[in-house]
Formats: sequence, structure tokens, C-alpha cells
Amino acid sequence: MIFKDITDLNFNGINISSHHEFNHEKVYYYEDSKAGLKSLIAIHSSTKGPAIGGCRFRQYDTFDAGLTDVLRLSRGMTDKNNVAQIPFGGGKAVIFKDGIKSDSLLTAFADFLNLLEGSYISAEDIGITLEDIQFIKKHSNFVFDNVDPGPFTAKGLFYSIEQAINTHLSENIQGKKIAIQGAGSVGKKLAEYLAGAGANVFISDIDKLKLEAINDNNITCIDDAFTFDCDLLAPCAVGGIFTKSSIKDLNCKIIAGGANNQLLNTSVADDLHERGILFIPDILINSGGVIGLTKDFLNRDDAKTEEALKEIAYRVREAIIFSKEKSISISETLKRKDL
Ligand code: NAD
Repeated sequence: MIFKDITDLNFNGINISSHHEFNHEKVYYYEDSKAGLKSLIAIHSSTKGPAIGGCRFRQYDTFDAGLTDVLRLSRGMTDKNNVAQIPFGGGKAVIFKDGIKSDSLLTAFADFLNLLEGSYISAEDIGITLEDIQFIKKHSNFVFDNVDPGPFTAKGLFYSIEQAINTHLSENIQGKKIAIQGAGSVGKKLAEYLAGAGANVFISDIDKLKLEAINDNNITCIDDAFTFDCDLLAPCAVGGIFTKSSIKDLNCKIIAGGANNQLLNTSVADDLHERGILFIPDILINSGGVIGLTKDFLNRDDAKTEEALKEIAYRVREAIIFSKEKSISISETLKRKDL
């Protein structure tokens, strides 16, 4: 077993604190070769409270790819928790996928969490399910196993999309064409909320089984949401999809979705603004999941939780109004205005 605080080390040929994504408090590495676990936990900030964020189980081509992911995602969690106004810092974990996800691997990850003594509390993310978290809970207290965050994220997105259409297009959601990329935990539920409100909903997924699981006559499955001619595109699959070049293929007026880190780099926000597409950054609108996860800890009943989810949309409205007044992107608005 190897457990290392690698924050100030040269590790795997990388000087961690000189990494281009690094401005973190701590980065830890844990390896249990018997259990097949190699994992990183990054704590970006604990200024507001213990760092919280999901754990990814994903194949990375290199150690640097996993490190880059965990550094970017944990910083995003700090921003997201700040915007959501919850008393937690930002952190994230990645597990390098190199085989199957086994009980012993998850138990070893629980050991890793225990070594950090609650300075990082984990939830699920891509490749890790609520059932996995409930299993880890048997071996570590440092997980949120109370709810599946996906439907909460979807609800916050739904309110935000309603607000974005009202504020930006001065129109009602009914009959609006909305394309969703990704029919997973967030995308599928979002599609149901939107269809229930009368929107014209289209959804794509690279996994055809996910599309086959959709049995709502008001939701149409399509091949590719990204290029689909629509009022609003909701990316709910993977990050890094918007680049200077890829945005030329877009056919939407608004982008508002749950996927983390949708822009390959921050300058793409300006490119989208120049193209006249309103881009609502994920950190502003995908905090419904952390609101759901922390509701018991914060003693929020259903009504208070619902209000916190609606507040995401009130902030979206404020941000759109400010960005229109100043003729700037919402990403720029987030830098200039406290929401
Ligand atoms: P998920 O794994 O349940 O679903 C993702 C879906 O996207 C999968 O069905 C996958 O097949 C599909 N997909 C992958 N690449 C695609 C592509 N190129 N085109 C179309 N579909 C594609 O994940 P999720 O929990 O629904 O989360 C979706 C995104 O939202 C992720 O980026 C996640 O990090 C982010 N997010 C999730 C939550 C949450 O509460 N679950 C909270 C905040 C952010």
C-alpha cells in the first residue's frame, strides 16, 4: 500500500505544484496493488468547510490525464459550492480504471478516505453509482450516501432552463425545442421534467441502451444533439466538448446543461458570446446535486431543498440580465458580480 501527500512532490515525473491546473491545498495519491486501486484525491479549498465532490472511475491514458481531471474538477467544486452558497469546500477523486470495479477496490478506496479523516467527503460521479457509495459507506463515514444527486441536478437545471428561456428569449418553455446530449442520470430526468412542462424534447446518447430505456412519447431520440437545430442545447454527458472549432457546428441559441467543464478552455466562452450563443456555465447551474447531497447535513426539509434549487434559477436570471446590460458573457459576469 502506498499513501502519499504528493502536493509538493515530483511524482510520476510531474512536479505537482507546477502543474498548469494546480492552485490547490492538497493532492493525495493512494495505491493498493492487491485491490487494483490507484487513486488521486485533490482538495482545492477547505476555506468554507470540508471539501466535497464526486469520485470518478475512469480510464485515463496517462497519469497526467487523471491528475489534470482531478485538479480541474476539484477547483470547479469550490466554485460550484460557493455559487450554491453551501458551507463546503471543493474536492474530487479519480480512480484510474484498469480492470473491473470490485468490492476490494471500493473497500481500498474507503481506506483512502479514512486516511484523510473527513477533510474530503465523496459522492458518486462518472463510473461510480449510488450503490457503490452505499457499499463504501460500510467501510468509511466520509461519503454522502443519502440520495442519488442526478435528479436534484436535473431539477436545478430544469428551473434554470425555464428562467433562461424567459429572460433571454422572452418566451415560455412550451413548444421550445430543447436538445439534450446524454441520457444518463441527469439527462434522462431533465428530459422528463422538460417534456412535462410542454417543451419539445430531443435526446441523444452514444449508448443505445440508454435511449431504449426512454419510454416517454414526448421525448424524441436523435443521433446527435450537439449539431441539432434547437432553441437550447443541454450538454449532460462529458466535458471539453466546446472548442473554437467545434462551436462552428452548433445550431442553438442557448447552452445550459449539467456536464462539468464543458469548455475545453476558458476563451471559448468569448467565442460563443461572439457567435451570439448564450452560454450558461456549468458551475452556475449544476449545483442541484450538491444541494441534494448536503440537505440532511444542513437540516433542509423538502420545501427548503426545493427553494434552494429554485435559487439556482434566480441567480441565472440575475446573471443573464447583468450580462445583457454589460454586453459580456455569463462567464465574465461570474468574475465581476457576486450572485
Ligand atoms: P451518467 O454517466 O449517468 O450519464 C452520462 C451519459 O452520457 C451516459 O449515458 C453516456 O453514455 C452518455 N455519453 C457519453 N458521451 C456521449 C456523447 N458524446 N454523446 C452523447 N452521450 C454521451 O452521468 P450523469 O450523472 O448523468 O452526469 C452527466 C454529466 O453531468 C457528467 O459530466 C457529470 O460529471 C455531470 N454532473 C453530474 C451530476 C450528478 O448529480 N450526477 C452533478 C453535476 C455534474
